[in-house]
Amino acid sequence: MDRRHFLSAAALFMLVPARVARAAATQGARQASAADIQRRWREFLAPQADIAPDAKPVSIARAEWRTRLPADSYAVLFEEDTEPPLSSPLNLEHRPGVFVCRACRLPLFSSEMKFESGTGWPSFFTSIPAHLATRTDYKLILPRTEYHCVRCGGHQGHVFGDGPEPTGERWCNNGAALAFIPLRATR
Ligand SMILES: [Zn+2]
Repeated sequence: MDRRHFLSAAALFMLVPARVARAAATQGARQASAADIQRRWREFLAPQADIAPDAKPVSIARAEWRTRLPADSYAVLFEEDTEPPLSSPLNLEHRPGVFVCRACRLPLFSSEMKFESGTGWPSFFTSIPAHLATRTDYKLILPRTEYHCVRCGGHQGHVFGDGPEPTGERWCNNGAALAFIPLRATR
């Protein structure tokens, strides 16, 4: 083994245990507090965020949403399109904050609910209670569970049963259907 190969092997040896330890620590924290994570989503909402967390349905015509939204967001939210994997910058969003519906800005997930699924879509192991509704979708022949924002009816993604502990759920969301509001401290 030459020096270069020895160094890469040594680097790999040092990285792997750190990664495993980090995953175990994250999982432990999640297992301890699944219900708390749902309850405390408001702690991740910036005090100055311009949103109204009222889930009462709104009636806005699709033609109106089309004028308000970028074309890719409109296609996902109101035509049930799916964005290409790895296309959303929100895959790499790891700051504390809240993910809201891109159309009506209803909070749907906190940053505490996000995990790395490796699918190329932003993924969450739970969601903010009562802000998303599900229905069965047969678009790919096999039934899947589609979910959408309860306020504007916009399609967000699909939920699967192969997620991590503590819920075992994988909420696979289109990034184009979300906006992220980072938590900023008030002064
Ligand atoms: Zn919405």
